[in-house]
Amino acid sequence: MNDVCSFCGKDRHSINKLIAGQSAFICNECVYLCVEVLEEEEQNLRSFLRDEEQSETGTTTITISTRVTGKGKAKDNPE
Ligand SMILES: [Zn+2]
Repeated sequence: MNDVCSFCGKDRHSINKLIAGQSAFICNECVYLCVEVLEEEEQNLRSFLRDEEQSETGTTTITISTRVTGKGKAKDNPE
């Protein structure tokens, strides 16, 4: 059996858990990594939304576009 993680290439003997998909495998370490990436993304989105709220009370919006690159387009033209 060629059970290696499709992401990092480790075989099942050097990792705790290997999850099998239709045509790929992923190990627990890579799953954690993916979760971290997704959570980071979510946190960026949350802080972006929080800053948007604050900006309505009068603070500057300049920091938003520099911190969340590529996503500052959502509300280019607030009323
Ligand atoms: Zn892996």
